[in-house]
Amino acid sequence: MHHVLVLGAGQLAQMMSLAGAPLNIKISAFDVVTNQIVHPLTQEILGTGLDTAIAQADVITAEFEHIPHDILYHCEKSGKLRPGAQAIKTGGDRRLEKKILDESGVESAKYYVIETKDDFEKAIQHVGIPMVLKTALGGYDGKGQWRLHTKADADAIWQEIQTSLESTQNQAVVAEAFIPFDREVSLVGARDQSGKTAIYSLSENIHTNGVLSLSTSLHDPELQNQAHTMFKAVADALNYTGVLALEFFDVSGNLLVNEIAPRVHNSGHWTQEGAETCQFENHLRAVCGLPLGCTKLLRPTSMINILGENTLPEAILDTDGCHVHWYGKEKRPGRKMGHINVCAENDEKRLKTLCSLAQILDKKSFPALHKLIEI
Ligand code: AMP
Repeated sequence: MHHVLVLGAGQLAQMMSLAGAPLNIKISAFDVVTNQIVHPLTQEILGTGLDTAIAQADVITAEFEHIPHDILYHCEKSGKLRPGAQAIKTGGDRRLEKKILDESGVESAKYYVIETKDDFEKAIQHVGIPMVLKTALGGYDGKGQWRLHTKADADAIWQEIQTSLESTQNQAVVAEAFIPFDREVSLVGARDQSGKTAIYSLSENIHTNGVLSLSTSLHDPELQNQAHTMFKAVADALNYTGVLALEFFDVSGNLLVNEIAPRVHNSGHWTQEGAETCQFENHLRAVCGLPLGCTKLLRPTSMINILGENTLPEAILDTDGCHVHWYGKEKRPGRKMGHINVCAENDEKRLKTLCSLAQILDKKSFPALHKLIEI
């Protein structure tokens, strides 16, 4: 039996708990909003404080990168935190992310860090227009971002950036060249404490308004090799333990890293039914010091995020190859409420199933699915 304390009590902790049960890995979760230790599936408050939970855990890990730093360092002192505080912090701070990419020789969009008006002017010179501006801390799913398309908009955008810089301590904005990418892909993989890795097939991802809508396993040996090399470089530089995800822009077959996620990742949810061992199990294996599981792609699989809905037509359950995963969260517009994994023996059949789902699922909540059938 291994006891793992997960920092964060959302759907990722929940799916770790489900994946860990057959291996006798017991999960408790620390809700960073309420500062309570909860059961990851029922959200029942377990009544132990953080210090007791740390003492009772064999391993501590995180389900998201925006964990308050005092809590991260407190956990790290126990010697049980995997991946380490620096790796988790790197995923939550775009300045650190860019630094580690530079240090590991991995390409990403040209950038400039902005703290003052003068930096903003310099960023325009250095990076050029069009430019994407992202808050260094606290941004995710496209939040905390601006697009500068013409010089004429610079003053108005600077006003907004200035407000943002004043709102959070140690805040900065990272200006990045706008990348005219062909598509977005990501690589999810696990690294164990000895540096051995187990990598999944790439995923091709479709975002709508910055939020992942559809993710599909991708068979592309050349791109996979490129991504694998970049993954190794970043994971080694971070001396990483656990599952790590790299998000890329694919520009004519050349990959640029967009983001590093030091955790199990939404674009890896398809591994639950599409791979020999899912990302949640492999994360737990890595952090618990167990051998990594085989990551072989079993069958082409797509993951459809359920955004802002808490019911689905029953016909989904009656569709071959469809697997529904609800997170049990309260309904809010656009919120990630669950996902559907769609598996088939080949890509043609997978696409056929996606098209049939588009007939019964609403465009507002399943935008990428509908985009797919419009093509
Ligand atoms: P992010 O939160 O950095 O993943 O950004 C959200 C989405 O904005 C990405 O998935 C891209 O679709 C888009 N995006 C982010 N950075 C850039 C960029 N430098 N150039 C073009 N599009 C971008």
